[in-house]
Amino acid sequence: MFDNKPFIIAGPCSAESKEQMDSVAKHLCSNSKVNLIRCGVWKPRTRPGGFEGMGEEALKWIADIKLQYPNAAFAVEVAQPEHVELCLKYGIDSLWIGARTSGNPFSMEELSSSLKGTNIPLMIKNPLTPDVKLWIGAIERMANIGISDIAAVHRGFFLNNNYGYRNNPLWEIAIELKRSMPHIPLICDPSHISGNRAMVQSISQTAMDLNFNGLMIEVHPYPYNALTDKEQQLNFEEFDRLIDSLVIRENNTSSPYELEILRKKIDILDSELLSILSQRLDIVKQIAEIKINNNLTVLQLGRWQEVLNNRIDIAGNMGLSAEFTQKLLEHIHTESVRIQDEIMNKK
Ligand code: PEP
Ligand code: MN
Repeated sequence: MFDNKPFIIAGPCSAESKEQMDSVAKHLCSNSKVNLIRCGVWKPRTRPGGFEGMGEEALKWIADIKLQYPNAAFAVEVAQPEHVELCLKYGIDSLWIGARTSGNPFSMEELSSSLKGTNIPLMIKNPLTPDVKLWIGAIERMANIGISDIAAVHRGFFLNNNYGYRNNPLWEIAIELKRSMPHIPLICDPSHISGNRAMVQSISQTAMDLNFNGLMIEVHPYPYNALTDKEQQLNFEEFDRLIDSLVIRENNTSSPYELEILRKKIDILDSELLSILSQRLDIVKQIAEIKINNNLTVLQLGRWQEVLNNRIDIAGNMGLSAEFTQKLLEHIHTESVRIQDEIMNKK
């Protein structure tokens, strides 16, 4: 199912009423670039008491709409075997497994038992935690029961610091998934990554630039009145504008000569960077020995603050942002502390 590139999935966060779904189908079926209409029918809510979805009633609306638009295909989120059964009963074309479910191996086992023998196209969102193995495991569980049409959906990760995103994209995790499972189409969900409609376009373009296979975008006829995720849903006009604005680049393996030269330069610089880091860590090991001999603690906060300020200054003069420099140094420092700690514990 997911062969088209870009494969576009659009639709409301939740199916709310027959009128809303009619209007969604009418608009999205007129846009030839939309391949699949999404809507949540059972909503996983963080706290109790909110709108929890229309359940089976919404599936009846979809079955009705499919009679009117025979070419339209619909996708619904499933979290329990009963959801799967009902979706199959009403002829839903594709299912997706949400971030709260894909990270739970027990739920994935239960779902895989109910999906066995169906071969319905399936999308698996990344788990809430940035653990690529958990995501790979969820996909493997479904592939193992014979589902051959599987796509992965990158919807970001909920971290302590999300840098303005609702869910931090941590693109490197999605890239690692693609590297480990190159045959699995990778779809980006910019709506749940951003959490606000202003950022949906730029995240979508980034995903296209990173050679993702498609996008899943939340679209609602009246986002301001939506019962769930109202800040991030686009109205029809915003959605059409976004789709028209997308620049789809070539992913040709034979790249222009200039690109090859620049890539060679990057290869050389990366290898120098790694060699410098390894030299730095050798010095860290020598420092650990001196600290042991003088009974000093591994972490010396004053010194660390001084290093951070000084390097941010130097990097700033070289055109590097303070945020990037700080993150880089924090990574290096964490590894230095880990190595020193290991040496001290061995003594
Ligand atoms: C959704 O797609 O509406 C949803 C609940 O997404 P996620 O599982 O990514 O939070
Ligand atoms: Mn949503």
